[in-house]
Amino acid sequence: MSQNFGSPFNQFPGAPSQQGGGADSRLSPQGPAVQLVNSMIGDAVRASASDIHIEPRKDKMEVRFRIDGVLQTWRDLQKDLQDTIVARIKVMADLDINEKRLPQDGRITVSFPGKSLDMRISSLPVLYGEKVVMRLLDRSMSVRPLEALDFSPHNKAAFDELIHQPLGLLLVTGPTGSGKTTTLYSALNVLRSKTTNIVTCEDPVEYDMEGINQSQVFERIGLTFARQLRAILRQDPDVILVGEIRDAETAEIAFRAAMTGHLVLSTLHSNDAPTSVTRLIDMGVPPFLISSGLIGMVAQRLVRRLCPACRRQGPPTPRQAALLSISTTDPIWHPVGCQKCEGTGYKGRIGVHEVVSVDERFQRLIMDRATGSELRRAAQQTGMVPIREDALMKIRAGLTSAEDVIRQVYIRVDDYDTASPAPGAPAAETTPEALAAGAVPAALPQPQA
Ligand SMILES: [Zn+2]
Repeated sequence: MSQNFGSPFNQFPGAPSQQGGGADSRLSPQGPAVQLVNSMIGDAVRASASDIHIEPRKDKMEVRFRIDGVLQTWRDLQKDLQDTIVARIKVMADLDINEKRLPQDGRITVSFPGKSLDMRISSLPVLYGEKVVMRLLDRSMSVRPLEALDFSPHNKAAFDELIHQPLGLLLVTGPTGSGKTTTLYSALNVLRSKTTNIVTCEDPVEYDMEGINQSQVFERIGLTFARQLRAILRQDPDVILVGEIRDAETAEIAFRAAMTGHLVLSTLHSNDAPTSVTRLIDMGVPPFLISSGLIGMVAQRLVRRLCPACRRQGPPTPRQAALLSISTTDPIWHPVGCQKCEGTGYKGRIGVHEVVSVDERFQRLIMDRATGSELRRAAQQTGMVPIREDALMKIRAGLTSAEDVIRQVYIRVDDYDTASPAPGAPAAETTPEALAAGAVPAALPQPQA
């Protein structure tokens, strides 16, 4: 679907002036490529897009924006502009404009009054040219208060308790773009004070926060998360935010820091909260470290918020009912589309979560290298409301739709312990056994990368 993002910027403020543009007049500040790239970035910023995709097709170049997690076409451009547009972006990101066979990555920082925009650029040679993705990072975005994170009261209480622990490691898990860092920064916002030393190491720094010390890792010059974290530990920290745990070395330092009197907050790619444990063990982290350092886990996804002006109530489809274990006569809310939401039926996004507080029993299970489903069951018995139930509550409240939840939230039928349903769990119309036996012919949603 095409969207009109308003008139293009003619002069994108702060856009770098011509750097090594060579003799190609199309790369001059007035050239069409420069103008187009400027208006592309300007429109993406105004539309609050998270990414710009520049995609070479057989006979055109398509430019799409990711807005609220979904790609939308901005414009189709003439094929003959492709090379100069890609060259322009490469010049801005200091990439090799002559290298068209290998993937490259770089970054562009533009500042203009009251705003600093950091863009991660990556190029990938595909069949009809080089595809470029620009990830936009607006560091001037204000940190959201904890109350605005859409936690259910049950989850908010559990999360609040976890972030006020004096020491230990708290993990937020989810795929890229699920708002993990936003959640951790809301926690830092609560924790920062004149008497606390908060230090972050990130790649890149995603928010600009007053009163804390934010540092950036730079792997290309050997400044890895692990190295930066060791340096931070010599800085007398109280609270440490590690942008992401990607390797065993970083994980081990983070766990040791958590066991020696620091509160460590970090993120991890895993499908759900309990299985972050198995993910860490697979990474090579010794179970005793996880068991003694880990205090809690939060899994989160962002789903689209239904437009309140046009949403309608109605029964779920049989597939939605089966996947969410609700009755086909149980009314839920659906997207419609109106002028206020530009025909999409949605406006903004909302978080759905599950929160696990690690107790003694859970610690023992970690030491025993329990399976993911054993850990899930234990987490539910200690009060974790599975993310699917949290999402279902929000579907019933008309905040989001079944289709978006099914699209975004990883639902696996064996994730649920039917013997002891979580508090607030609905009566199952379709049991997991029935689902496993083929009650849902359509493919189940797959975990996200
Ligand atoms: Zn609407």
